[in-house]
Amino acid sequence: MVKLVIFGPPGSGKGTYASRLKERLNVEVISTGDIFREMIKTGTSLGESVREYVEKGLLVPDEITFNVLKENLAKIPKGKGFILDGYPRTVWQAQALDRIAKIDAVIHLIVPDWIIVKRLSSRRICQNCGAIYNLLFLKPKNDMICDKCGGPLYQRSDDTPEVVRKRIEVYEKQTQPLLAYYRDKNVPFVEVKCEKLETPPEVIVEEILAGLKKLNLA
Ligand SMILES: [Zn+2]
Repeated sequence: MVKLVIFGPPGSGKGTYASRLKERLNVEVISTGDIFREMIKTGTSLGESVREYVEKGLLVPDEITFNVLKENLAKIPKGKGFILDGYPRTVWQAQALDRIAKIDAVIHLIVPDWIIVKRLSSRRICQNCGAIYNLLFLKPKNDMICDKCGGPLYQRSDDTPEVVRKRIEVYEKQTQPLLAYYRDKNVPFVEVKCEKLETPPEVIVEEILAGLKKLNLA
């Protein structure tokens, strides 16, 4: 029963890796971002207060985030481990987590800025059906038109190179203290470097698994 946290910059593919590791490690993936989006959709009163933070681009306060995490950890079937994606975001959150679970390892994805900028700024989305394209790897036949439905493609306002650089900066600032926190506590790290623009997810997943095996966690 392995308990992991995963850190990686926006556009690192962390969600994809976590969901593939889910099957390989027999764990649940808890993504606080996904949970918040779901809460906003269902429109509960807690969902409404979460919406206010998310829409302003602010961090959801520690105590709300921790309570949401706790609720979701409690739903995990006995004997099953977990991977946390998007939690902790602050040292306060890491400390609160330590009081209820012992983290076995930190998965840390290292992706150079230029790769993230290139990947995210090449992303295009269909306005009509929501299909996601990438002008580098998943090219539509025509740069401006959806292959599936003929709808117009657009770029998300936060996928432009300037905003992506800003997002990376925010991520670094938020994450450095957390990495330091886990290093100080001697929690083992599995560090995986992505050095090519196009590395198939399988390759990264295998590297993570190899790192976990070395720690006797997989
Ligand atoms: Zn479409």
